[in-house]
Amino acid sequence: MRLLLFVSLSLVSEPWDFPTLPAATVQGRLQKIERGENGARHAMMNTLFGEAGCNAPAREDQKVKGSKLPNIVCTLPESSETDLILVTAHFDRARAGVGAIDNWTGASLLPTLYQTLRHLDKRRHTFVFIGFTDEEQGLVGSRAWVKENQKTILKNVRAVVNIDSVASCPHPLYIWAYTGGSDFEDAGGADNRGAEDSGGRDECGQGGR
Ligand SMILES: [Zn+2]
Repeated sequence: MRLLLFVSLSLVSEPWDFPTLPAATVQGRLQKIERGENGARHAMMNTLFGEAGCNAPAREDQKVKGSKLPNIVCTLPESSETDLILVTAHFDRARAGVGAIDNWTGASLLPTLYQTLRHLDKRRHTFVFIGFTDEEQGLVGSRAWVKENQKTILKNVRAVVNIDSVASCPHPLYIWAYTGGSDFEDAGGADNRGAEDSGGRDECGQGGR
């Protein structure tokens, strides 16, 4: 399991109490994996976001130069807050295998996380959920998002939770925590350059941070 966290420590001062969804919902979305072309995976992500209640204009495609497929961006605004938290996962798969763990496990979680946070009475941040295209081709989708938003909302990003390859037991859980402040660019955007290994790792997800 590999979970990348870029988080400003000021964000974690209070526990969150938010509604959860049945395990069957999570499993059902996991089982809707498209094993073929990435285009089918993109379409399925749109379907799942729609089921979770995220539709246009909250949900939009971001065209990505160098990719046949766009990123999917689903915004959950908090009217009084311009600070952003990104929750991200790539939906494409590598050529080998079907890309179940890497990374349909992460991609199929995004609509569920959106759905749970949507029902929260008051959020302290605007959440932006992004399904990235062509991560396996060299972080194509995430780099495109950073580039497009470099002069606008990038400066408002306070944390990024990037989910990749969940529950690939017995591999360890890795968490990289970036605590260098709000300068997201210095963290390499959606890349993990500049991040430090927090040491939060374990076997099979038991007790990891
Ligand atoms: Zn991956």
